[in-house]
Amino acid sequence: MTKEYSNGEITILWKPELCIHSGNCVRLLPQVYHPKEHPWVSPQNASTAELIHQINHCPSGALSYRETE
Ligand code: SF4
Repeated sequence: MTKEYSNGEITILWKPELCIHSGNCVRLLPQVYHPKEHPWVSPQNASTAELIHQINHCPSGALSYRETE
């Protein structure tokens, strides 16, 4: 399963079965990642550059992104 969250410039892809719940995403961008809410990702709360930097620090590969066409 892949969940998608877009800010209009990029789409964040999250694969829950790969997530090891390290919490890196929440620590780096607490305004974007809210594990207890649905949807738990609010990509409009950070810049695209901030989102990409954070996604590159996800240790499990659960988070990735693609440019919105
Ligand atoms: S950084 Fe990646 S592995 Fe860690 S909690 Fe976030 S999505 Fe899951």
